[in-house]
Amino acid sequence: MRKASRITRAALAIGALVAVGALAVGSSASAKNHRKGGKLKITSTPWGTANGHEVNLYTLTNRNGMKVKITNYGGVVQSIWVPDRHGRLANVALGFSNLDDYVNDFQHQPWPASGGSGDTYFGAIIGRYANRIAGAEFTLNGHAYPLGSGPPCPSTPTPNNGPNLLHGGPDSYNTQVWGATTHQAAHSVGLELTYTDPDCKNGFPGTVQNTVTYTLTDKNQLQIQYAATTDKPTVVNFTNHTYFNLAGEGSGDVLRQKLRINADSYTPVDSNLIPTGVLAPVAGTPFDFRHMKPIGKNIRDSDEQLQIAHGYDHNWVLNGSGLRAAAFAEDPHSGRTLTTFTDEPGVQFYTGNFLVGDLVGTSGHAYRQTDGFTLETQHFPNSPNQSSFPSTVLDPGQTFSSTTIYKFGLAR
Ligand code: BGC
Repeated sequence: MRKASRITRAALAIGALVAVGALAVGSSASAKNHRKGGKLKITSTPWGTANGHEVNLYTLTNRNGMKVKITNYGGVVQSIWVPDRHGRLANVALGFSNLDDYVNDFQHQPWPASGGSGDTYFGAIIGRYANRIAGAEFTLNGHAYPLGSGPPCPSTPTPNNGPNLLHGGPDSYNTQVWGATTHQAAHSVGLELTYTDPDCKNGFPGTVQNTVTYTLTDKNQLQIQYAATTDKPTVVNFTNHTYFNLAGEGSGDVLRQKLRINADSYTPVDSNLIPTGVLAPVAGTPFDFRHMKPIGKNIRDSDEQLQIAHGYDHNWVLNGSGLRAAAFAEDPHSGRTLTTFTDEPGVQFYTGNFLVGDLVGTSGHAYRQTDGFTLETQHFPNSPNQSSFPSTVLDPGQTFSSTTIYKFGLAR
């Protein structure tokens, strides 16, 4: 039953997108300050090589002058340039200025236990299973699947995050060079990325064919559509790992930026950041973002959940279903706003707790804790081991499809 509600046909997703397009009209005061009459275009430039493959950096530009740069290495959103209330563009996505820095971070950085920032996953597509799977193992149809690095199927769990598997395990979707095709329509430009995740890669059963399409519209929406099929029963969960700072990356912390999350409950975690299975009400806790409040308002509260995660690093249980507004963020100083729409049941709000100042970002500034926040739309962490959570099982013959939209605007 649950499965049927999440595995929708691509046609449904397209219908939903049209609906959001309509919903977004007039939802911000952005248009009046944007540079009108710009050219809608998508261009590509060589950006080096990774894993022996040539990598490109694609620049998507809309008629307002908004620009999004995306590379087919890991499908990384490298930068997002949006205007403030005076029409001044800033890059609101944390990242690096060159491909080697991504490769070093994604492929060589150890987990923070060693003292560094660890793998940041800046801007990347995350799969086959976004977020954590407890014990780096799950059971499906009575069969146990140990996960982690292996040649190619590990015989025992090999965790990459404490005892867990995080973000699909080592060398996962974020380190692949994806196939890329560009598109242009009347009011949008798009980049379609494809990747085949082999059977048994990191222990997951089945070959999964993935298509992720990024679209930039003239309404300042960055739309992300995920589609996947499998040839064996498996589990899937996809997200995008962009860290936002609406004042501009490298400009300092996001503690005064305001956030609302459309969720009455969240999934508290154990000491390994695995949900306990309880859906806890946010009311009366630092996790209550039902009304706009500064991200920093409660982040230093004496609260066990905040202490475990060193800040916010939790899954909120979004109210409603279907493509709907999940979160709204605003930088009072610049006036930039970000509305997140998704058809996923959850969102991981993470305040960059593991950034420790050892990585230098795109504009030459070191990133520290709370210098950015993520809104990772997703199914709940550890769903394969938690039967009360919405199912993440994908069976042969089904097409997984899901849509997330990051829409930029200006405060009224
Ligand atoms: C996780 C964090 C992790 C981060 C890695 C997030 O999705 O929730 O715990 O440190 O990814 O960048």
